[in-house]
Amino acid sequence: MSDPLRHAFAHCPRCRESMGIFDEGGVVRPTCSACGFVQYLNPSPAAATVIRRGRLVCLVQRKYAPKAGEWTLPAGFIEYDEAPAEAARRETFEETGLDVRIDGLVAVHQGVLPPDRPVILIVYAATELGGELLAGDDAAAVGFWPPDAPPGPIAFSSHRRVLAALAAADREAAR
Ligand SMILES: [Zn+2]
Repeated sequence: MSDPLRHAFAHCPRCRESMGIFDEGGVVRPTCSACGFVQYLNPSPAAATVIRRGRLVCLVQRKYAPKAGEWTLPAGFIEYDEAPAEAARRETFEETGLDVRIDGLVAVHQGVLPPDRPVILIVYAATELGGELLAGDDAAAVGFWPPDAPPGPIAFSSHRRVLAALAAADREAAR
């Protein structure tokens, strides 16, 4: 994991004074010495869906950096006042055109959005209700593939972990 101070403000966003660094029991807290503003350096929460068609799983090809051209589960960042499951449903619709119902939690993984943004990925199982499979604005392509045979590299380690677990569960179910 990268140095959290790379993300620290040099100047207070409230009063423009220089920020100092307080060490709170080993946790770094950039803090304004003038007004007391504290910059909490937390991971960004994101949500993803696992949508199956038999043994196949829905994957989206990234259109934009980072990792343009590589593949992920349908996923995106959770908005300020949005519930995680709603973010998963919204991002899935925006990227794939599929209207889905969120069924339950699959996994929660720590990850990094390159170059160094820490992310917590919340992964839900989802079922197609309707819609039309069509790559959305920030997707280059969308489709269904076996979890152990995606059409190209998987962009993020957290998504690779989900696909590996799906492939292992599929193998177990086939025995
Ligand atoms: Zn300040």
